[in-house]
Amino acid sequence: MPDGRWVEIGDGVLARRHAELDLTTGLVLGADRALVVDTRGDARQGAELAAAVRAVTPLPPVVVVTHAHFDHCFGTAAFLPCPVFAHPRCRSTLAATAGGQRSEWTTYYRDRGDAITAEALAATDPPLPDRPVDPAVELDLGGRTVTLLHPGRGHTDHDVAVHVPDAAAVFAGDLVEQGAPPDLGDAVVADWPATLDVLLALQPAVVIPGHGDPVDTAFVEAQRATLAEVAALHAAVGAGRLDARAAERRSPLPGMPWPQRPC
Ligand SMILES: [Zn+2]
Repeated sequence: MPDGRWVEIGDGVLARRHAELDLTTGLVLGADRALVVDTRGDARQGAELAAAVRAVTPLPPVVVVTHAHFDHCFGTAAFLPCPVFAHPRCRSTLAATAGGQRSEWTTYYRDRGDAITAEALAATDPPLPDRPVDPAVELDLGGRTVTLLHPGRGHTDHDVAVHVPDAAAVFAGDLVEQGAPPDLGDAVVADWPATLDVLLALQPAVVIPGHGDPVDTAFVEAQRATLAEVAALHAAVGAGRLDARAAERRSPLPGMPWPQRPC
């Protein structure tokens, strides 16, 4: 199976769909620089993505990392030297968790019999982002300005999205997921719906999720409604108004983590 395929979103705006974890990365071309949105999950995958980007454009890259989960940022080394933008908490989270993520997911790939990915991941020491996005950075790519923004907490406490106004496109990272439920493992569920409101207020024609196919705002609104329902259940459990088991039964996202105390 090929490692990825490009999907054209607009003029010089591309999404790349990857079989591994159904990941979606991005590429935005200016006249002078090319913005790469996320870098895949290990050094080998990053090299594959960098080669695919070079096949599209000779422009020097700029990287933005949407968040510190390994599948979005462990491939960054293949693009260096170049600026690497992320929220400051992405940098600190990656510094604190890279080793743990590496061992957890190396085991995952070994257990699946994918020795190639397991070994590539085990040998990957992800570079830390060096340019802060807090809360927003306007980036001139040459004839096209994009905005990197932290719209609020949601999938993590440091998500960064990319707004490409002339293409009415938003790269949302894992704030939006298509093809699988949103992942709540490191989430700030109470804030997530309002964070999606910030992205919806940009009135994008297309939203590119961190996993899955590009979607429209109706999809994002539906995901927002689901997350708002979950947030309300979390709040009810946290306030002692609802038993966690009853909340679990009512939840539109069963199997989610529940707060142990009010939050
Ligand atoms: Zn994630």
